Amino acid sequence: MNKYFFLTLSLISISITAQNNIYWQQHVDYTMDIEMNVENYQFDGKQKLVYTNNSPDDLNEVFYHLQFNAFQPGSEMDMRLQNIVDPDGRMVNNLGNKENPIYESRIAILKPNEIGFQKILSLKQNGKPVKYEIIGTILKVTLNAPVLAGKKATFEMEFKGQVPVQIRRSGRNNKEGVALSMAQWYPKMAEYDREGWHANEYIAREFYGVWGDFDVTIHIDKNYTIGGTGYLQNPQEVGHGYEDSSKKVKTPKGEKLIWHFKAPNVHDFTWAADNQYVHDIKYVPNGPIMHFLYKNKPKTIENWKKMEDEAVKTMTFYSNYIGEYPYKQYSIIQGGDGGMEYGMCTLINGDGGYSSIVGTMKHEMAHSWFQFILATNETKHSWMDEGFTSYISTIARQKMNTKTDDTFVFERTYKTYNYLVTLGKEEPLTTQADRFNTNMAFSIGSYVKGQIFLSQLGYIIGEKNLEKTIKKYFSDFKFKHPGPNDIKRTAEKVSGIQLDWYLNEWVETIHTIDYTVTSVNEKEISLGRIGQMPMPIDLKVTYTDGTTENFYIPLQMMLGKKPGSEKVLAYWPWGNPNYTFTASKSVKKVEIDTSLLMADIDRANNIFEIN
Ligand SMILES: [Zn+2]
Repeated sequence: MNKYFFLTLSLISISITAQNNIYWQQHVDYTMDIEMNVENYQFDGKQKLVYTNNSPDDLNEVFYHLQFNAFQPGSEMDMRLQNIVDPDGRMVNNLGNKENPIYESRIAILKPNEIGFQKILSLKQNGKPVKYEIIGTILKVTLNAPVLAGKKATFEMEFKGQVPVQIRRSGRNNKEGVALSMAQWYPKMAEYDREGWHANEYIAREFYGVWGDFDVTIHIDKNYTIGGTGYLQNPQEVGHGYEDSSKKVKTPKGEKLIWHFKAPNVHDFTWAADNQYVHDIKYVPNGPIMHFLYKNKPKTIENWKKMEDEAVKTMTFYSNYIGEYPYKQYSIIQGGDGGMEYGMCTLINGDGGYSSIVGTMKHEMAHSWFQFILATNETKHSWMDEGFTSYISTIARQKMNTKTDDTFVFERTYKTYNYLVTLGKEEPLTTQADRFNTNMAFSIGSYVKGQIFLSQLGYIIGEKNLEKTIKKYFSDFKFKHPGPNDIKRTAEKVSGIQLDWYLNEWVETIHTIDYTVTSVNEKEISLGRIGQMPMPIDLKVTYTDGTTENFYIPLQMMLGKKPGSEKVLAYWPWGNPNYTFTASKSVKKVEIDTSLLMADIDRANNIFEIN
């Protein structure tokens, strides 16, 4: 039972009372100054971090992430890569063939000048040197004096970084020739919340961060254009398409430009830089300014220019469908190794076909609402980020009229889920993102089963209630790190239907749904629950006279029913696997769930027809 208090965007610290069920969250303010060397891919950094401990606990230690350290031979990321049965194809070389693959970890063969690192040169707490230990990709700091509940501490750090050869997400000289993809590049304070510290080793995937204000200054070779998180403060000293072209650009003397960014109320700061970026700008009506940065190649230019208007429309669609995008800027930047979402920006591959670029853009932009603004702990609940993002981008495809045929919009989604179930490789969605047994179980679980969580919720509470739930969930929990119970409670409040059973069955177990029409005898219809997971039942009955009637059997645990014009039958209690009722006329055909939204793993037994 948590009481959520309204927080302003600036996340003013909340006074702590003795009740430990009050909502709170930590706050960080970063000031960083980065000297980038584009020749050897190293950078020198100064970081001042003001940490506000809004928790009710006195903290004796703090933890930072040093995620570039994952890109070193022998790291836990490397070990996992060498031991997982289905490694990410981007992170390995296949020395065998497709049938008999022999994988070589690309991390294992990195030379010292190719690895990633973040070396701490000095660290002070409130002006005094402080003890620290580096454990893999985690920096553990034993404080000189505790940061007391409700108090602040200032940490000052000097560090040196090396950008790794691109292996995953960030790195130098990606496949498409982008010089610097700078994600997870700075020592980053781990999140501390009601569950404690989330100082997770960087093994492969998913992030969680502390909200705060970033002030970042980057000194880089003047031929490089930067795109990323944050508003450029000095466009007239930089140019590169950011300037007001009616005024003169005055750059400093020397080989470097100084880029000064501010990003209020974000939980990460990402950037990319290249010396051959084309930079376009578009304005979303009543919305943010959009920057597009991509390589100066004919096919890439053609595809990106075509994609820009679609990106503007997509931003408007999401703002209407979920809730208003709260920042003044969003940038779509060529970089990384596929598509990855960050604060106020995304890094995507850009040399592929048009439909692949648009599909990636829609997916990554949708992440802004889930991964970034709601900012669920995606390490623990990856399905709430990837799944909800995938759901919304599928809806966008349908509602923005880019889907032209009338096939079931989630057809491939449900088929993919069935495939995983059939293989017997499904794992509960509560599994920590890194610790799924296979990449496949993670991916299908998070992206697909997580997506079905929402589409199927629409089946349970009704489509209109689902739309209201998504809007209310976003408006109630933006900037608050919601968890699984929060989406469930929101849907309950909107629909008046109890949903504990749904969250439990779909997320915490691998129970499956299978209903059958057992028998039809004149007017009498018998149904059966074969699968362990119970559901309410939508039923379409065709009578021998050719007329049809729709019935609805609410699940007893729902203690309520979805709105609709169907004839409502008595509750079906979970404990009884059988259900019988009598229709008004002689029955010819019975169909369970013609919407296809219920993830019944065997649809063959959903239809019963008397010949
Ligand atoms: Zn995603």
